[in-house]
Amino acid sequence: MNTPSAAALLTLAPRCAAAHSEERSPCEGPRAVVRIVDQNGNETTGCVHHAAVLYASLACCRVYPSPGHAGDVTEVYRRAQMLDSRPWRAVTAA
Ligand SMILES: [Zn+2]
Repeated sequence: MNTPSAAALLTLAPRCAAAHSEERSPCEGPRAVVRIVDQNGNETTGCVHHAAVLYASLACCRVYPSPGHAGDVTEVYRRAQMLDSRPWRAVTAA
């Protein structure tokens, strides 16, 4: 059985790993600009948009840049401060 390469998976996957299943917005830019690590040591990569949503929804986590994307961490923090912790629920509840 052939195993798809990481690059192929990024092409096939509709959204980044940080995208929540109930939140339907598309990724913004590259899909692995940051790595988010929660308080239990679980980690995932994500685009700026979904990383900000995930960061806003977690009680305690850290964000690390992928190589060449140091500025994206600041953007994730900035956006997360302006988000509801679960913005997709606000949309569906209205
Ligand atoms: Zn994304």
